[in-house]
Amino acid sequence: MHSGTGWRRATVVAAVATLGACTGVPGLTSPNAAALSHGPARSGAGAPAPVVDCQVSRCVALTFDDGPTQYTAAVLDTLERQHTVATFFLIGPHALQYRKDVLRQQRDGDAIGDHTVTHPHLTRFTPARIDYELKTAAEQIASVTGHRPTLFRPPFGAWNAKVRAAAGAEGLSVVTWNVSPQDWKYHNPALIEQRVLARVRPGAIVVLHDRYATTPPAVPHIIHALKARGYVLVTVPEMFATTGGLQPGMVYHHGPWPRPR
Ligand SMILES: [Zn+2]
Repeated sequence: MHSGTGWRRATVVAAVATLGACTGVPGLTSPNAAALSHGPARSGAGAPAPVVDCQVSRCVALTFDDGPTQYTAAVLDTLERQHTVATFFLIGPHALQYRKDVLRQQRDGDAIGDHTVTHPHLTRFTPARIDYELKTAAEQIASVTGHRPTLFRPPFGAWNAKVRAAAGAEGLSVVTWNVSPQDWKYHNPALIEQRVLARVRPGAIVVLHDRYATTPPAVPHIIHALKARGYVLVTVPEMFATTGGLQPGMVYHHGPWPRPR
């Protein structure tokens, strides 16, 4: 995860802390008293952030693939308005084209991952070509953010031993998903929302795409409904923060779920 604490993150932390103070909400393992007492102010940046424990809280990670595009700003508007974070898997050349959106994601505390240069089915490629796709996109993203990504999402969710090896060599964890509303197929915001909510479980990693006009309008309703059901929205690295983190070359389909209490 990149460094820096955006205002959105600080606000989320404060909201959780307030809840925790009133109701003993589980899952806030190491609140920083100084940061919390200052509320959602940006001055909290740089202080250690409280860690959401997804073995206790009902966590869900919204992820967006294939951007940035002309539709990404609408998703970021929603995330900022709802004080929520997400994870974006970027196509390298798109990151170069839409630098402003990438920097906005970074500033907001979103996680940023690698989604190749040309979006191919990597399993058909030689190791050298796979490495080119991962490495070049990582460098393109880093040229904008100043940070090499540590997350990788294979296009179409297609991975094999060669893809894992290449990811491991580039310091990338392979992150797939376990909830897909197939927004690439169903261009209907209400249906996308319904399909996410019908499938989501604690620990879910949800794949969406900020490349279609019909996905951003579904996002406000999805976030609102998830929060109403008691979910904590986290980035992919946050989801694994209390279970040892993400390891390069390993494949993750979902996060931990709350232990029975
Ligand atoms: Zn994709």
